[in-house]
Amino acid sequence: MYINYKNNFLFEGKTKKIYNTDNLNEIIIHYKDIITSFDGDKKQILNQKGIINNKISAIMFNLINSFGIKTHFIRRINNREQLCNKLDLFTLEFVIRNIVFGSMSKRLGIKEGVYIQNPIFEIFYKNDFLKDPFINHDHAVFLKIISYEELNIINRISLDINKIIKKFLFDKNIILVDLKLEFGKNQEQDILLADEISPDTCRLWDKATNKKLDKDCFRIGYSNEEIINAYMEVLNKIDK
Ligand code: UDP
Repeated sequence: MYINYKNNFLFEGKTKKIYNTDNLNEIIIHYKDIITSFDGDKKQILNQKGIINNKISAIMFNLINSFGIKTHFIRRINNREQLCNKLDLFTLEFVIRNIVFGSMSKRLGIKEGVYIQNPIFEIFYKNDFLKDPFINHDHAVFLKIISYEELNIINRISLDINKIIKKFLFDKNIILVDLKLEFGKNQEQDILLADEISPDTCRLWDKATNKKLDKDCFRIGYSNEEIINAYMEVLNKIDK
């Protein structure tokens, strides 16, 4: 059914390629071996990363689907690709935080590692030129990207997803520090979770040692072997 999809190239992003399929409502997402940070300024090939993230993200989306939360994910079709619903994405990124780290620490002058009692929901405007600025609900509505009602739905679903993944990972000896989510709408105007959930888009720490198991390994400048081993460790821990 999808034999000729490679001729059906739709879009290439920093870490993924998207193909159309015979079904107008479905796409194939191909995970590449590129790792980027600092809004794409730092970029390199990381062998096997696409395979590992495809598998990790498929496990996460299957988990979320199993709780009745709607996502774009249909199924993983091979090592690097998954079949997903085609959505119209909001040009927003939503970050949920359980522990202070990264941009929140810098913005508010709070030490990295402080535990957050009530997970924090943040909105960023997805715009490479502006370097994805931190915005609030009013900005997002003013920019005509989304309605207040849709933001409230996404806020609630995001906190539910955070709770589900946090618990799932904790039972696998991983702490979910924060995660970035993206959402979009299908033809029926339903809001679905999109994109990926992987060590590229979450901060994950080993529960016993606090060792970093995510893209911070790349941001810090670890070797390729150390980075891929950290990603692999996440997959090994959750793929049981
Ligand atoms: N994140 C992401 N894509 C982005 C920006 C952030 O997936 O374009 C993730 C990041 O990996 C972390 C979380 O969102 O898990 C919060 O990132 P933060 O705002 O602290 O920014 P950073 O420190 O990564 O600049």
